[in-house]
Amino acid sequence: MNLLIQDAGIYYREHFGEPQFIVRSPGRINLIGEHTDYNDGFVLPASIDNAVYVSIGARNDQEIHLFSVDYKEFYTGNIDAVSVSLQSWANYVLAIVDVLQKAGYPCGGFNAVVRGDIPIGAGLSSSAAVECATIFALNELFGYKLDRMTMVKMAQQAENDFIGVRCGIMDQFASMFGKANQVIELDCRSLDHHYFPFESEEYDLLLINSRVKHSLADSEYNLRRLDCEAGVAHLQRFHPEITSLRDATPALLQQELHSLDENIFRRCLYVVEEIARVKEACEDLKKGDLLSFGKKMFSTHTGLSEMYNVSCPELDFLVNFAIGYKNVIGARMMGGGFGGCTLNLVKKAAVADFVDRISESYLETYGVLPGAYPVTIDEGTAVVGPW
Ligand code: ADP
Ligand code: MG
Repeated sequence: MNLLIQDAGIYYREHFGEPQFIVRSPGRINLIGEHTDYNDGFVLPASIDNAVYVSIGARNDQEIHLFSVDYKEFYTGNIDAVSVSLQSWANYVLAIVDVLQKAGYPCGGFNAVVRGDIPIGAGLSSSAAVECATIFALNELFGYKLDRMTMVKMAQQAENDFIGVRCGIMDQFASMFGKANQVIELDCRSLDHHYFPFESEEYDLLLINSRVKHSLADSEYNLRRLDCEAGVAHLQRFHPEITSLRDATPALLQQELHSLDENIFRRCLYVVEEIARVKEACEDLKKGDLLSFGKKMFSTHTGLSEMYNVSCPELDFLVNFAIGYKNVIGARMMGGGFGGCTLNLVKKAAVADFVDRISESYLETYGVLPGAYPVTIDEGTAVVGPW
């Protein structure tokens, strides 16, 4: 049995008695479509085998008792006075309690243990996994009968309002709706989504973790959103039908934005090009043309680095190394930016050699050994125990 489920059970029993549910919610990768979700565009995520586990049980008072196995810390509070905690990990659980209560779903007191193995701040959305595991567990515990889509939206709102990160819907969606060996083509405007298999005899998906998280990640993320909104607001003056960058074309941006503000123009152009690139990349995948797909990953990275300005020297180094290595056919930074992982499409037989070489070179340059994780695409949020 998975050691993390076991831990979630063992620590719960040690501190609180018998858990009623253990819920697993995974991290996610995104093959292509970066910074497109909050612009009503398309994304192509998949849930992975790294996950957060929440074991939970009801209390007969109004208290919340939490234990984090990974932080080795307790949190205790009252259900009627949920507020931001100094224990940052507890905030992702409290954020869900807050959003549920505000939407008219009262929580009783509960105990919960949180255990996970998603590298934190690596662009794999460990925060969305904690949120999705928590809301799924509370839904089971208190019988709200919320459907998955409602939980996704509430978890996103929790991150937006309580945590203060204006993330789009992709992370929570991928964690909640993922399926083993399938990628999800998600239209972030209509929320229509299609699954299709991602399996290759020849290539593996491999994450390389730069192990850096620059402190400006969250603030710059919010600033990019403001740039996109400023671009849309300007376009709307002449084209009221445009409600997001999803509705714009490169030609229109050139005509209306180019002379106005160079920065906003470049950022909006990146988004518009990336939205189109996701559609084309999905066609590549459906045809099994991984070479063409991989080239688009490189193009996405160039756009993120040079037009959207959310990369950093460490990520550029990792992608440039991949470009110079002949058995890597695609690579790009993944996630909000300024650190975290690159996603690489690597010939299976070359994975070990690539990891050795990129690790050595990165260590030599930055004095840090990067992480390297082969990706397995695994199931989305589900009850996995107790057994
Ligand atoms: P990410 O890119 O991984 O989502 P964030 O900074 O958005 O990075 O969220 C990371 C936060 O999520 C951590 O600081 C912690 O508060 C919470 N978190 C993630 N994994 C765990 C875990 N296993 N146990 C407790 N909290 C976790
Ligand atoms: Mg996050």
